[in-house]
Amino acid sequence: MKAWTLAARPKGMPRTEDFALIEQDLPELAEGQVRVANRWLSVDPYMRGRMNDTKSYVPPFQLGEPMQGGAIGEVIESRAEGIAVGTMVSHMAGWRDEAVLPAAHVQPLPDLAVDPQAFLGQFGMPGMTAYYGLLQVADAKPGDTVFVSAAAGAVGSTVVQIAKAKGMTVIGSAGGPDKGEWVRKLGADAVIDYKAGRSVAEALGEAAPDGIDVYFDNVGGDHLDAALAHARPQARFAICGMIDVYNDAKPTSLKYLARLIGNRVRIQGFIVSDFKDHAGFYRDMGAILGEGRLQREETVFEGLDKTPAAFLALFSGGNTGKMLVKL
Ligand code: NDP
Repeated sequence: MKAWTLAARPKGMPRTEDFALIEQDLPELAEGQVRVANRWLSVDPYMRGRMNDTKSYVPPFQLGEPMQGGAIGEVIESRAEGIAVGTMVSHMAGWRDEAVLPAAHVQPLPDLAVDPQAFLGQFGMPGMTAYYGLLQVADAKPGDTVFVSAAAGAVGSTVVQIAKAKGMTVIGSAGGPDKGEWVRKLGADAVIDYKAGRSVAEALGEAAPDGIDVYFDNVGGDHLDAALAHARPQARFAICGMIDVYNDAKPTSLKYLARLIGNRVRIQGFIVSDFKDHAGFYRDMGAILGEGRLQREETVFEGLDKTPAAFLALFSGGNTGKMLVKL
């Protein structure tokens, strides 16, 4: 099999030389194992954190070892009871074309009428992040005004659609007019193009003259500050990601931080893996899909050799919807 490894720990923005493609022989199957041919690989912003040798909620990638990440593959050989050849499964042995895994490390795809790769996006980790972050962490309710950053991305675009399906007013921010147009098509009531030259705080003030009840943060920095500037009393902030600082430990200065106090804003970070019971997620998302209220966009790079390029493009807005690699 071929797999991507981390050849060097990136400093700042990763470079293609920080990754190396290696070939390894895979073993014969032992009892209880399956051989999976990967069809789709996920690249996600959180992987940048795993490239640093620092303690975090997931361990760092080891230099020279195959990297990990979400993947969808087909079982091509099985010595595991109940997992037949041909079963499509999701698992974490991504960044490679093939894997030998114990049955406990693969999950057959849930029975929902969506493409397999949707289980790396709206019906997978990013979708769960949107769902739990919005409805449980931020406790968003019908009638709330919700602001979400990186609204044309995998998580953000799902936040927009869940919020609209649940009767909220939504303001999404994204880079550039094309993404903005798509976010509007998803149902957003207002869109901010943060690359258009105006400050996010000024644009948000115009889009939400009465302020916001919920901020779903994917970006940090000026977006978080703008949300603080326009937070209504008792606003709730779900801090999902801060992609603005992943490649660069720049200190962020928040001009409006003190608004936390006067407006009694509740601000909480979360990790999607905190949420373990997904029955409600599949039921609710299946219902929104059934109502025809769920649109999906993917940006697809073709071929294992393109995996680092797909990953790097996340940091320059190269994706609309979920960024995927197709094998
Ligand atoms: P996206 O699909 O949203 O891709 C990243 C997008 O972020 C880009 O397309 C780009 O869109 C935007 N972006 C990149 N750099 C910047 C910047 N400096 N300022 C503003 N926007 C930027 O990724 P995901 O949906 O997978 O992830 C979104 C966020 O959620 C990330 O921060 C991620 O780390 C976080 N996350 C957190 C989880 C958790 O458990 N807490 C789980 C999953 C994701 P544009 O063109 O609009 O700039």
